Amino acid sequence: MQPLLLHACCAPCSIEPIRLLRAEGYEPTICWTNPNIQPVAEHERRLETMRDWAEACGCALIEGADDRELWERSAAPHGFDRPARCRACYALRLAETCRIAERTGFTYVSTTLVVSPYQLFDVCHDVYARLCDAHGLELVWRDFRPWYPQATVRSREEGMYRQNYCGCRFSALEATQSRQRARDERKAARAEGRPVNVEVFCG
Ligand code: SF4
Repeated sequence: MQPLLLHACCAPCSIEPIRLLRAEGYEPTICWTNPNIQPVAEHERRLETMRDWAEACGCALIEGADDRELWERSAAPHGFDRPARCRACYALRLAETCRIAERTGFTYVSTTLVVSPYQLFDVCHDVYARLCDAHGLELVWRDFRPWYPQATVRSREEGMYRQNYCGCRFSALEATQSRQRARDERKAARAEGRPVNVEVFCG
């Protein structure tokens, strides 16, 4: 098995990538570095869930820097400009992952951000590929989004805490607004006898 450092945004999103990477011959070590998660109590809850899951699935866990002030300086100024904000947010977290990988001797890195259909897949790839080039690391980039529904089912079966927004305060508001729009749309569709087909952004 090839050792691989896997940046993990949360426990539910790590379930399927760990299984699939192991099936490919990689042995993931989880890397936690998520200063984007707000408020602090929510951050602690997700980290605690991650610690429990790492132990349950037999993965080592490295807890990296969670520099909230740096997140405020680099990502928060983009406000509701989601592509720019998420790019800065990915860059901060994945750069720390790359530094840890370099320091601790990993060659291969990946991220659980590639399982959620709500993440900006291409932006994330662009950021991570540049970082890996700069640090001399091999990026194991896979599209795990088809396994998102399975991750949802399995995380429920495991009784894991599951959040309903990506992490930052902007995403919490965006998710709330998206759910409200979805409720309004369902109501309107029912009233007009139309089929209901509504997507909710949840980060
Ligand atoms: S939506 Fe998620 S990825 Fe984007 S800035 Fe907020 S926490 Fe970071």
